[in-house]
Amino acid sequence: TCGICVEKCPFDAIEIINLPQELQDDPAHRYGENAFSLYGLPAPQEGKVTGILGPNGIGKTTAVRILAGELEPNLGRHDEPVDWDDVLEAYRGTEIQDYIADVRDGEVTVARKPQYVDQIPNTFDGNTRELLEQTDERGELESLVERLSIDPVMDQSIDDLSGGELQRVALAATLARDTDFYFLDEITPYLDIGQRVTAARLIRELAEEEDRSMLVVEHDLAILDLLADTLHVAYGEPGAYGVVTAPKSVRNGINEYLAGYLDNENMRIRPDAIEFEEHAPRTATRADTLVEYPDLTKCYGEDEFTLEVEGGEIRENEVLGIVGPNGIGKSTFAKLLTGNLEPDEGDADLDLEISYKPQYVTIDQHMRVDAFLSSITDQFGSSYWNTEIAQPLQLERIMEQNLSDLSGGERQRVAIAACLSDSADLYLLDEPSAHLDVEQRVQATSAIRRYAEQQDATVLVIDHDIYMMDLLADRLMVFDGEPAVHGRAGTPQSMRDGMNEFLANLEVTFRRDERTSRPRINKPDSQLDKQQRSEGEYYYAP
Ligand code: ADP
Ligand code: ADP
Repeated sequence: TCGICVEKCPFDAIEIINLPQELQDDPAHRYGENAFSLYGLPAPQEGKVTGILGPNGIGKTTAVRILAGELEPNLGRHDEPVDWDDVLEAYRGTEIQDYIADVRDGEVTVARKPQYVDQIPNTFDGNTRELLEQTDERGELESLVERLSIDPVMDQSIDDLSGGELQRVALAATLARDTDFYFLDEITPYLDIGQRVTAARLIRELAEEEDRSMLVVEHDLAILDLLADTLHVAYGEPGAYGVVTAPKSVRNGINEYLAGYLDNENMRIRPDAIEFEEHAPRTATRADTLVEYPDLTKCYGEDEFTLEVEGGEIRENEVLGIVGPNGIGKSTFAKLLTGNLEPDEGDADLDLEISYKPQYVTIDQHMRVDAFLSSITDQFGSSYWNTEIAQPLQLERIMEQNLSDLSGGERQRVAIAACLSDSADLYLLDEPSAHLDVEQRVQATSAIRRYAEQQDATVLVIDHDIYMMDLLADRLMVFDGEPAVHGRAGTPQSMRDGMNEFLANLEVTFRRDERTSRPRINKPDSQLDKQQRSEGEYYYAP
């Protein structure tokens, strides 16, 4: 054995000879003999935003507990006592040496935004104002509340906030604190793109203007790219070991991650590269129409919210992306199509079998995953189903668990599998990226894409993750208007026209990375940004 694993080598695919350098050294921490080991540590820097990119279960929380001084790392030595001086010695000459010295001297204070904001109501009783006022240590609360548009829910009970509202309140509560080190475990869940960009800018400002150290875990790659100054890629075997690489430039870190190969580490982390197309996909003109729908109107209550839908067609075998801000009527449109809601004007009776995955996944019966999925499809367990659905959605490991015991990400994957496994004319997925880590997003995206191609299925996907949309959609439907007041759904259009309309509303332009063609958000008012805006090319610049 290589000294790490005793019984079964966890590095199935890795030859001992190719063991990455990090794994030949001592870990930063090992929870016990044969227990999870963390190799390497992220290095927060004053005035900088440090990103971590990698799957869940790979030791990110462990690393942060060490950096916060809560967990004294044992350097994998179980037979001798280890103190912070030993740790300092072990990391002498690395980027993190000064930081560890500060932790040893008790000089680091930490503010932390948890990953699962849905759990905040379980730990706090009271309204938004009461929660936020406890955190107002820098006198910046008012401006944070304004920029994150929290005002309308200031007097609302925390119990009644939506996911997106909780996320923004949690961000404000963390950034309002006065500490040296801020750790933000995912900032984008439940936020629309405009809100994501605002959150990223607030974090950058706190680093730059106040010289604070920010450490961010994020699975939305476009936002991570905008947000971070340096990037650690984390890889390994969830539950067995995790490796945090030395810092990379954000551009290289994301490019290497997408390529599936880490250059300096000489390490393959995925068999295939993820590739973006520089030019908008050609719209297949031959495609037959699956369904046409007329202009529709839906009004909730007495003028509470009105949605106007411009009529359009959905084509056979296409993946139609749906984008727009939160609270603009996307889910309402989905419910009109499925017949769960009746329009006030127009006839949405499509006479189609629709398989629908809602935004908030509620499958939580007391039933095992395998029993649940086999009740949906008689393909369950066939080699085709295993290869196309179970494997890419990483269901094998959770088949015997109860639906009610699943984590958010596990439940999401089961719900996507259930939606695609049903036989239907139209598959409608509302926010499939929610709760998935970056690797699961990549896998789920390719599973949905392949399924559409191989089963000649027609798929509608609502999502806020631009990379996921880019990789998935053939055409785009854009919603705009005034959130919570009125929404307008445009007719489906080409990716180029759709992206231009959508991003013009947001005033965000993208350029292409020279090496990988992946889209990158331009700095506002940079030369490219101005040029692309004047030409009306927000996404696929010529
Ligand atoms: P992440 O934040 O990347 O999801 P964590 O740092 O929370 O990962 O956990 C990494 C691994 O360490 C998990 O497999 C977890 O079960 C294990 N682990 C976490 N805390 C302990 C502990 N106190 N004792 C033993 N194992 C632990
Ligand atoms: P999106 O999916 O774009 O986030 P939704 O379609 O869920 O938007 O909601 C649009 C608006 O309609 C929001 O302001 C929401 O609060 C409101 N709304 C949604 N469902 C109802 C309902 N059953 N009754 C009253 N208002 C609703």
